[in-house]
Amino acid sequence: MDLKGKTTIVTGASQGIGAAIALDIASNGARVALVDIQEEKLKMVADLIRKNGGEAYSYAADVSNFDQVVAVTEKIIKTLEKIDHLVNNAGITRDNLLMRMKEEEWDAVLAVNLKGVFNFSKAVIRNMMGKRYGRIVNISSVVGLMGNAGQTNYSASKAGVIGITKSLAREVASRGITVNAVAPGYIATEMTDKLSEEVKEMFMGLIPMKRFGTPEEIAKAVRFFLSDDAAYITGQVLSVNGGMLM
Ligand code: NAP
Repeated sequence: MDLKGKTTIVTGASQGIGAAIALDIASNGARVALVDIQEEKLKMVADLIRKNGGEAYSYAADVSNFDQVVAVTEKIIKTLEKIDHLVNNAGITRDNLLMRMKEEEWDAVLAVNLKGVFNFSKAVIRNMMGKRYGRIVNISSVVGLMGNAGQTNYSASKAGVIGITKSLAREVASRGITVNAVAPGYIATEMTDKLSEEVKEMFMGLIPMKRFGTPEEIAKAVRFFLSDDAAYITGQVLSVNGGMLM
């Protein structure tokens, strides 16, 4: 799955799944534009990619802020000349039972996880349409498919990501652009590290493979959707969850 010369934006790229995606695709030839809210951590990932012989550029932006996203996309096009691929990976959790959930917790999660996907997709789509080629991969979640107590905001945002994936896939298919989603199960990252041992055990009990997934396992699924091997696949959701939801 060669990505040589393809210019790819990865959001939320400074750690966890986003960093693993950036490292994986860069080592398969992609030129990677890393985007995250914190610039310092991003530079460490960019340095690692360059040390491994890859090409990486870092950009600070809040994906929930449309103006910042447009500005950063313009900068990326100026430097890299084109955008072939977009991976909408940035995401947050603000877990609480609905009864206790604050309006700010609902708004923050929807703004980053769902509006962030709208913002970046809108910012890059004209460039892709002009070239009659593009790949967009959105990171959803098993929770967007099955729900989870304490995550009404997060599961709504991730189900919404599937809706935008399918609708945009229909809008741009005739222009050579595919739009797909990867729905990870429980993956060991900082996002899941903060869960209590009790909740971790509860999740483990739901996973037939009896282990948590790794960010690298998600990166491989994303690379497949970005590659020419997936050229005739669009509007799909690929679950990578150890059998947690079948
Ligand atoms: P993570 O370790 O928390 O990494 C998420 C990254 O996104 C962080 O670098 C974070 O920066 C960045 N980010 C947060 N808000 C942002 C914003 N407004 N603009 C730009 N960047 C922002 O999470 P992860 O586990 O790698 O998750 C990556 C994606 O996979 C998310 O969409 C998540 O919902 C999804 N996912 C994860 C799992 C799992 O089990 N880990 C399962 C299913 C789906 P800061 O650290 O500075 O906030």
